[in-house]
Amino acid sequence: MQQFLLIKEKHPSKLIFYRMGDFYELFFEDAKIASSILNIALTSRGHSMGEPIPMAGVPYHAAENYQARLLKAGYSIVICEQIGSPSKKGIMQRKVSRILTPGTLTDEGLTSDNDSHWIASVGNVPKSVVLANLSSGVVLIYDHISEEEFDTVISRFSPKEILHTKLVGKFDSTISLVEAPPWHATKSNLRKEIYRTYGITDYQSFGFNDLSNLSLYNLAVLLTYLNDTQQAQLTHLRIPSVANNSELVVLDRITQKNLELTQALDGNKNNCLLSIINFSSTAMGKRLLDEWIKQPLQSNDIPKQRQKAITSILKCNIAENLKNILLRISDLERICARIGLKTARPSDLLNLYKSLRQLPELKIQLSVDNKKLQVLNSNLKTLPQLTNLIEISISDPQPSGIKDGGIIRSGYDEKLDELRSFSSKTMLEINRIEKKAKVESGLEAIKIRFNRVHGYCFEISRNQIANHELPAEFKRKQTLKNQERFTTKELEEFDKNAASNNSEFILREREIFQRILDSVLCFLKPLQKINDTLAELDCLNSLALNAKQRNWICPILSEDYQVIIEDGRHPVVETLSTDRFIPNSSQLNSSQRLALITGPNMGGKSTYMRQVALISILARIGSFVPAKRAVIGPIDRIFTRIGASDDLAGGRSTFMVEMTETAVILNNATEKSLVLMDEVGRGTSTSDGLSLAWGIINQLVTLKSMTLFATHYFELTQLAEQHNEIFNLYVSATIHNDKVIFLHKVIEGATPESYGLFVAKSAGVNLEVIKSAKKKLLELQKRTQTKKGKVIRDPVSREDLILKEFAEIDLDLLSPRDAWLKLEYFKKMVDVRHHKGTR
Ligand code: ATP
Repeated sequence: MQQFLLIKEKHPSKLIFYRMGDFYELFFEDAKIASSILNIALTSRGHSMGEPIPMAGVPYHAAENYQARLLKAGYSIVICEQIGSPSKKGIMQRKVSRILTPGTLTDEGLTSDNDSHWIASVGNVPKSVVLANLSSGVVLIYDHISEEEFDTVISRFSPKEILHTKLVGKFDSTISLVEAPPWHATKSNLRKEIYRTYGITDYQSFGFNDLSNLSLYNLAVLLTYLNDTQQAQLTHLRIPSVANNSELVVLDRITQKNLELTQALDGNKNNCLLSIINFSSTAMGKRLLDEWIKQPLQSNDIPKQRQKAITSILKCNIAENLKNILLRISDLERICARIGLKTARPSDLLNLYKSLRQLPELKIQLSVDNKKLQVLNSNLKTLPQLTNLIEISISDPQPSGIKDGGIIRSGYDEKLDELRSFSSKTMLEINRIEKKAKVESGLEAIKIRFNRVHGYCFEISRNQIANHELPAEFKRKQTLKNQERFTTKELEEFDKNAASNNSEFILREREIFQRILDSVLCFLKPLQKINDTLAELDCLNSLALNAKQRNWICPILSEDYQVIIEDGRHPVVETLSTDRFIPNSSQLNSSQRLALITGPNMGGKSTYMRQVALISILARIGSFVPAKRAVIGPIDRIFTRIGASDDLAGGRSTFMVEMTETAVILNNATEKSLVLMDEVGRGTSTSDGLSLAWGIINQLVTLKSMTLFATHYFELTQLAEQHNEIFNLYVSATIHNDKVIFLHKVIEGATPESYGLFVAKSAGVNLEVIKSAKKKLLELQKRTQTKKGKVIRDPVSREDLILKEFAEIDLDLLSPRDAWLKLEYFKKMVDVRHHKGTR
């Protein structure tokens, strides 16, 4: 207990997994927490100040699973191993061997997902963030950033853990916040830790001399924490790089969320952009694709290179072959991390070997006429020295546990082979002694058993020896509930030899394995490069497979500020919906910069706006896009003000949130920005809302941002007459038999019809309410007409005529099939005429 309390004192907020024989035990509060989260029994052991000490335990061989659950719940774990030998007298010595924290995991068994695990070290004034990913070894520094950029970075990387000295701000409740211990904060520590980790004597070698002291401090805090938790040299950490936000299309936290890039609004990861375009075959490929989606690029160079590579993959028809080979490659990123941290297991080396063996075949596929693919090809070094080493040294398949021995191939080490042959002789000897005992005792059922604590012994059930006299040389060793255990002089002698041979064998094996690991460590840098190359190749191939399967096209990346999409589709809605998706076109350029979109609820306004943003993002990461044709220029930032949500915890009402987000847009948008605004000004009185929306639109026109502005305020459509840059669009719908039919077609012009009552009716609002609403609506409409002295223009276009014609058909008189065909026919008509019109 004294030993335990000393360790606990150093890690008061972490759970101590205290090794006791075949179990990890937890005590006091830790035991209570573990028992309630893991649903395991809470018992007690000994007393402290007259009270029983609460205790809970898990078997060591199944510990990973339990640890993973506690980490997921946000706890950090200190693993405390026995370091003394169990046979020695006195108190067993123990030592902290590793600290597991949510942000520093590199073992598959401990992470419940395949996602990237980032840890951030943050400072407050001015803002700075240093991020590390212990799996990939990547370290990124965001120096001197604004409050807003800080927010964007945190939401882009979603670190699992944040280290801080004094934190101001609100973070997602799933992030574990750790206050950096004060002893990390000394000035000398600052430099020492960085120098020690990277084996350097001056920052100059990093090339970031003008980094702020705050960022250096954050880096040092992070490195100290990583060193402390891993209790190992962080050989695989890469040189930190100072991140440059100016190359990226900024997607702030709200935009990332609204556009459902890597998860849907409800948190579901299956209905988002990533899940749709992800055809990756490796874990590192999927993680990189996740990063790409959140980091579209402003300039055209890199996306164009990616486009060309994807085009080549498709043209040479190698996507399926690449996929089949990549599927046989393991998660090299995590294997590299474990090699660096010296926690790699023999199975990691085998998986590494099997992965490297795929490279020659991959290289054959990659010998195509494309610069990017050629560079990737030349980066894939086959490392024959390394594959040879693993091939001759590591047994395949592996025994199940490292402690049982047998991990090293026979023939690799002479001494080990000698000890091994002794072991096989041991088996013969056991058989001989057992046979002899059967004869001497007259008991056919007597058997030799082995037990880690008591060694070899004879075992026989108590029933069978109840009326049996054993020869005198059989000495009783242990009595169990149903069995008796004996030994003889001969067996004791054998036990001693076998045990020493066995432990010598295991020691020798471990030593050899460590030596092999040391040799493998020399290949860490080339291995990391291979990992990065494979991840990039996998991403490109994933985009190629997706483009092929869904018939997407290669967008044109232009230098002019414009977004032109012909027959675009929403990638996620189209894929997940069983209905036919109606394609729509968009055109934002120097002469048309702001589209005012009207139309009924449920008509498809939000879908249309999001589809423009998603297609732009896809184009800016180098992907193909769901459209007939697309021309996308540089974009510095995508802003979204979509959907109503309040922030009651933060003390802001729905309207306040809406206005705060609007203010951010108006203060930051430029002519390179794409702005989506959905029904701004709803949360206040109609006249307030309308006037605000009016002012906001005028400002957006001055800013020259490319804007899609959806609204139910029909009055706003008059703005198109005042500004050349503003144009009106509406989503079409029609009424049939008192029901709205949404045609989801976006048409030029404005519609005063919002079909609100029809939508309310189909949503189940009762008829009484609808009836009285209708009456009120008529009254209001009359009043507006007389006030203005004229009737609001009824927008009659060719499409409207077709829709009216459609409305007159009584679908109920037709068979369901004919009715459906008619509907499809009319949808097509609107489609065709619209395009004739625009052309
Ligand atoms: P509200 O004004 O009530 O917010 P909205 O006009 O923004 O409605 P959306 O939410 O975009 O409407 O779309 C409503 C539904 O219509 C979506 O769930 C989608 O399934 C379907 N939809 C939208 N656009 C299309 C389309 N182009 N083709 C087929 N279905 C579509």
